[in-house]
Amino acid sequence: MYLKSIEVQGFKSFANKLTFEFHDGITAIVGPNGSGKSNVADAVRWVLGEQSAKQLRGSKMEDVIFSGTETRKPQSYAYVAITLDNSDHKLATSYEEVTVARRVYRSGESEYLMNGSNCRLKDVQELFLDTGIGKEGYSIIGQGQIDKILSGKPEDRRELFDEAAGIVKFKKRKATAEKN
Ligand code: ATP
Ligand code: MG
Repeated sequence: MYLKSIEVQGFKSFANKLTFEFHDGITAIVGPNGSGKSNVADAVRWVLGEQSAKQLRGSKMEDVIFSGTETRKPQSYAYVAITLDNSDHKLATSYEEVTVARRVYRSGESEYLMNGSNCRLKDVQELFLDTGIGKEGYSIIGQGQIDKILSGKPEDRRELFDEAAGIVKFKKRKATAEKN
């Protein structure tokens, strides 16, 4: 499984529809300060279901929508889609390729899509549980995160090992069963 592409439209500094395509090997994103490098990582976090505006370096969720410049008017919505190659079926779905998308309007109305069909945030979260990719995963290591891992509480550190070991879904199911 690997990330094939990221499509952004109206997300943060990306007013126009833009697609980043990834191929074999290492990809690096380079550019001057403020050119939008971190916004690419934010886009991935956001589409995976990030609910905290602070984690996305904003103060409210609306801050992810392109807010306009002197020459361009603001966008009415933000859209991000990531496409993953799933030919090894690491993601528990029969699809060879999975596209997960999220859209949010200024009104606060929002939607998630999986291969073009509307789905719930919960469906997105479940798809990525135990793969290391989800919001709680380790596929994106942000600034300061290593420090947090090293100096954090053992219980918090354990969550990372649980994810790597692939047992988060069992823990979640147990917790749900105990609640009911
Ligand atoms: P650095 O090298 O300093 O880390 P960077 O390339 O990571 O920079 P980003 O932080 O990704 O840059 O991009 C910051 C830019 O994104 C700023 O110019 C900011 O104005 C712009 N930006 C963020 N949110 C929005 C928004 N909602 N609408 C328009 N522009 C936005
Ligand atoms: Mg940056």
